Amino acid sequence: MSQPQSERPNLWRRIPLWQKILAGLLLGALAGAVMGEQARMFKPLGDLFISAIKMLIVPLVFSTLVIGIAGMRDPQKMGRIGLRTIALYLLTTAFAMAIGLGASILLQPGVGLDLSFDQGAVDAKQAPSLVSVLTGLVPNNPIDALANGNILQIIVFAIGLGISLTLIGDRGEPVVRVFEGFAEAMYKLTEIVMAFAPFGVFGLIANVSGQYGLEVLLPLAKMIGVAYLASILHVLIVYSGLISLLGRLNPLRFLRGIVNALVVAYSSASSSGTLPVSLRCAQKNLGISEGVSSFVLPVGATINMDGTAIYQGVVAIFIAQLLGVDLSMTDYGMIIVTGTLASIGTAGVPGAGLIMLSIVMSQVGLPLEAIGVVAGVDRILDMARTSVNVAGDLMVTTLVGKSEGELDRTVYDGDNVV
Ligand code: ASP
Repeated sequence: MSQPQSERPNLWRRIPLWQKILAGLLLGALAGAVMGEQARMFKPLGDLFISAIKMLIVPLVFSTLVIGIAGMRDPQKMGRIGLRTIALYLLTTAFAMAIGLGASILLQPGVGLDLSFDQGAVDAKQAPSLVSVLTGLVPNNPIDALANGNILQIIVFAIGLGISLTLIGDRGEPVVRVFEGFAEAMYKLTEIVMAFAPFGVFGLIANVSGQYGLEVLLPLAKMIGVAYLASILHVLIVYSGLISLLGRLNPLRFLRGIVNALVVAYSSASSSGTLPVSLRCAQKNLGISEGVSSFVLPVGATINMDGTAIYQGVVAIFIAQLLGVDLSMTDYGMIIVTGTLASIGTAGVPGAGLIMLSIVMSQVGLPLEAIGVVAGVDRILDMARTSVNVAGDLMVTTLVGKSEGELDRTVYDGDNVV
């Protein structure tokens, strides 16, 4: 007997969300290619989605971290998680720099090209000093940090509040329950916003693909190809390798579990903006606890930028080749050190990596004006590097979760992908 109409989910509901989001990506690329500049009319769909998702970041990160820390009740464990997180973030960024440099040195995307660029003055950014980064971690007004979305300061305050709530025992219980209910509501809101993701992704990608005609992309096609190749290799070799070797987990499950975060990162070019989606993927698809994911992911979205590191390496070498500048071993060393620091200092917002590129370029004496050569196609590069940035955050979260016994294998190995 057939099911009554009202009980059978309609076709739209039967298709898994990640497939709808991927379809939004492909259809958006197609619409942009066919409609060209006119595809700009879909941009408001994308803007709406990005605003809705950004709206979630601060309340979601704050509430989940407070209850995550309050639930951990073990200061030693917190310290260990912090150290492992930072160590793994640095390790993967070093790999990323090496892959970016290696790919550009081997494939020589800038050799034999003749591109002109404006000679206008460009100011070099200064890498922030370690002392200023550390002193800036503590907010002098937590409401100010929340209002301005300063994630690292929010993390510091949330950790302090979470620990204090544990220390006052029963008296903290009502507040913890308020945060629990609030976090639950924020998860629900994330689910609601994500239901709109296929349309948002469609709008974002249609707009980008409509803007970049072949005449802009072709001259730089080889460099773009090298940057994409290095990014894909980094995810497939380094991340999959670490997931299987260190985590003893199936890398394919990992990649499938993070697909929504990857597509949103790719279309939005913002790893901070993708945070709510990353948190959802980590908890629902990879089975990582709230305590670990709500700490490791926001830290990663702020300081761990492997894709940006790859990009710095590829573009610096590309420009050196373009200008026929011979780089010494010391220069390569400088690129690795400054590229790593610059990637840490890069904010998880669109285009931030391009600005930080000036730090690397000025360190090895390359003319800053040459940045203009890549600026025109930066969005295309930004989309790839942001996806890698987000994949890296999720990879480290998975390893930390696994090593702390905070990863639920039945969820990780299960078939559910939201
Ligand atoms: N857009 C990148 C991100 O949000 C940062 C960058 O421009 O490199 O992760």
